[in-house]
Amino acid sequence: MCLFCKIVRREVPAEVILEDDEVLAFKDVRPVAPSHALVIPKKHITSIHDAQTEDGALVGRMMLAAQEVAEKLGLGRSGYRLVINTGQDAGQSVLHLHVHVLGGRTLAWPPG
Ligand code: 5GP
Ligand code: ZN
Repeated sequence: MCLFCKIVRREVPAEVILEDDEVLAFKDVRPVAPSHALVIPKKHITSIHDAQTEDGALVGRMMLAAQEVAEKLGLGRSGYRLVINTGQDAGQSVLHLHVHVLGGRTLAWPPG
């Protein structure tokens, strides 16, 4: 069973930052930056590559939720990075679409 679907159903605990009917945002359990949150759709979509045309508004909502999360985490002025790892080469480890919100330090570019 999908880990992030379990978090949506509160079967696995998470430190929730933001929630509405469509999306949930929570702190990453293994942060790689001083601020590291994940924004997910409540609907199970495996990856951004699996999103369909009808998911367009939901994907847009995720992006604006990520902006709200960044503001809540105090990253609005300093800046932040949104990341969507997709598939094997990108190291996607949880097969439920999620946007990483990363900030609180200078982030290197290009990524590894
Ligand atoms: P990915 O590698 O798929 O892009 O990102 C998955 C993220 O989910 C990782 O950063 C990992 O730390 C996080 N993660 C994995 N399991 C859990 C969990 O049970 N709770 C929370 N809050 N984050 C998790
Ligand atoms: Zn899921």
